[in-house]
Amino acid sequence: MDFDTRLAEAWVRAAAAAVGEEQERLTELDSAIGDGDHGSNMQRGFTAVLAALDGLDPAGPGAVLTRTGTTLISKVGGAAGPLYGKAFRALGAALPGPADPAGVGDALAAGLQAVRDLGKAEPGDKTIVDAYTPALAAFRAAVAAGADLPRAAAAAADAAEQGARDTVPLQARKGRASYLGPRSVGHQDPGATSTALLFRALADVTAS
Ligand code: ADP
Ligand code: MG
Repeated sequence: MDFDTRLAEAWVRAAAAAVGEEQERLTELDSAIGDGDHGSNMQRGFTAVLAALDGLDPAGPGAVLTRTGTTLISKVGGAAGPLYGKAFRALGAALPGPADPAGVGDALAAGLQAVRDLGKAEPGDKTIVDAYTPALAAFRAAVAAGADLPRAAAAAADAAEQGARDTVPLQARKGRASYLGPRSVGHQDPGATSTALLFRALADVTAS
């Protein structure tokens, strides 16, 4: 199964639905160690993305993802908007046409690099990077072992969810939560949690 325009659209729509369903949880997590706006930021961003996709006649999967990224950058305040926006734009640039699983892995790697270039977070800093890094590694390991896209995406989603849970004992060293110092310990990072939602959405749409 190649990742094509239809799957790209389905992924973004499923991500928007998941963000809508989990908005309160994201807000709760961000209330504990941030300013409580992560759920509404993501919801606002993906609602705008759905509207932006409606008028789009995409030339390939990348066009969908680039539009998604551009919209997130312009509509979402806070740290996560530009970070996810740059990630989707990098994914889009890497996927001008349909891609096999290895190509999707390369695109996901470009997305993570974009997050790191902008945010300068290392693994262990209690951020998006802590879900994205293990997800990418699991995706690539699955592909190297011969997995098709649905299996690789499922492995990535599992790893992202584990990565998000593994942020609980970490002390935040980037973003607003870092202002809390040791008081950020004991809470799951909201951005790592939304990253896991995005990977689960990818797994869901490739599986069906
Ligand atoms: P803000 O912190 O500006 O209110 P959000 O609440 O929407 O923005 O997003 C917070 C999330 O952004 C955090 O939980 C964290 O995962 C992520 N984040 C913050 N700074 C960085 C960074 N430098 N690199 C990667 N992710 C980051
Ligand atoms: Mg916030």
